Amino acid sequence: MTQRTALVTGGTGGIGTAIVRYLVKQGHRVATNYRDEAKADAWRKAMAQEGIEVCMVQGDVVDPTSCENMISAIHHKCGPIEILVNNAGITRDTTFHKMTYQQWMDVVNTNLNACFNVTRPVIEDMRTRKWGRIVQISSINGLKGQYGQANYAAAKAGMHGFTISLAQENARFGITVNTVSPGYVATDMVMAVPEEVREKIIAQIPVGRLGTPEEIAHAVVFLTTDETSWITGTNLKINGGQYMGW
Ligand code: NDP
Repeated sequence: MTQRTALVTGGTGGIGTAIVRYLVKQGHRVATNYRDEAKADAWRKAMAQEGIEVCMVQGDVVDPTSCENMISAIHHKCGPIEILVNNAGITRDTTFHKMTYQQWMDVVNTNLNACFNVTRPVIEDMRTRKWGRIVQISSINGLKGQYGQANYAAAKAGMHGFTISLAQENARFGITVNTVSPGYVATDMVMAVPEEVREKIIAQIPVGRLGTPEEIAHAVVFLTTDETSWITGTNLKINGGQYMGW
């Protein structure tokens, strides 16, 4: 298997950490961004105890200049990025009639506009090298909508629109672009939801439990292999059967 350089944005989070671990296990050089030095240091130490070395670069996915600097620092330290996982994301839940402009913008900027900020400085190099794997981490709620998440559902649906356009533009350059849409996964984001709400969510999942970050990471790694060069523009739904629509 060819060793490649991968960037996972939000690699220090619940799902991101699992993706980083899986990509490292595949033998890749893996980079991620951080915003808070102390938090990054603690995470780096925890990973090092598992024998996992990660290239950590400061970067805020909401800020285009910060992203350009981050990509160029990774390029300098580990080589050109061949695998990109746009995973960083946030929620700011509230019903739309109470939503502030800031709550809307924060969510759209972090989940959707970040795809531009991070992918734009990477794509030209991938086209030149004629190989690339790009995976967007969207959400079940970008497919089915969700009460209290007009901002998040709009941003996550937009991510797949981005995927299918980028997939068409770059298919002839050996670059695949896909979306993974997780259902509810047992990370801090979901465990912060009140227990009674979580129980109601689980009741809607045919498999009868929340997903694990490893189950999402497994799918992401699958989409980054040489063998999946004919899979592009797909949206892989991983949700325990909660949403089975097309
Ligand atoms: P976490 O909150 O655990 O992790 C989010 C990561 O994104 C953190 O590393 C965080 O870094 C980073 N991040 C947030 N904002 C920025 C920013 N402006 N610039 C750079 N990094 C940023 O979330 P999850 O692991 O649960 O979620 C990962 C992805 O999966 C998200 O896109 C989420 O929407 C999606 N998802 C999650 C589901 C779930 O059930 N958990 C379900 C469906 C989709 P920092 O520490 O600096 O804040």
